[in-house]
Amino acid sequence: MSHKPIRTLLNANEEWAQSVIKDTPDFFARSATGQKPKILWIGCSDSRVPESVITASKPGDIFVHRNVANQFHLHDDSALSVLTFAIKEIGVEHVVLVGHTNCGGAMACIEAAKDRAANPGLSTPLTRWLSPLTALVQSLDLSACSASEALNKVVEANIIKQVDNICKSEPIITAWADPDAKKVTVHGWMYDLAVGRITKLVVRDAQA
Ligand SMILES: [Zn+2]
Repeated sequence: MSHKPIRTLLNANEEWAQSVIKDTPDFFARSATGQKPKILWIGCSDSRVPESVITASKPGDIFVHRNVANQFHLHDDSALSVLTFAIKEIGVEHVVLVGHTNCGGAMACIEAAKDRAANPGLSTPLTRWLSPLTALVQSLDLSACSASEALNKVVEANIIKQVDNICKSEPIITAWADPDAKKVTVHGWMYDLAVGRITKLVVRDAQA
């Protein structure tokens, strides 16, 4: 096993910290006093969609939750606690749910939807995690689609579904029901790996 990737990361961190201090000498001292990001990003764990890099953001700009296939399950305490903290404590104004093309999690669900009949008892942490997305795949008519069209359709349906789930969650329902609460908007975005661009798919707010 090579430790070179680890050494590379730590060296890059040192160089980065030095360059930040050179540009903005008090950046870290100010950063250490607290955070006030306006955005909560809920995205996929995929290494090719690093939210701060693809939006040229700085530490402190984006509160983040990422998991396989950018899921927001209504019984998932990890995602729910992030959303609750982001809205009630930090006061974020925008929640962005970001899916991406060629998502391995979505691909796995297309395969799982085919296999489910053959292996109904198969259960791993990943199949359990992706089970709602596999069910969503089974609800779509993909019979006329090519493999890449089917994948894009699943990624898009997944984004819409997770935005829907976020809008049904307690922190959003509570924020939208309170006219005095800070306004929160929920967005569904698609990131295209092949061109590095984000496309807006859906926007929801208290009036929608
Ligand atoms: Zn993904």
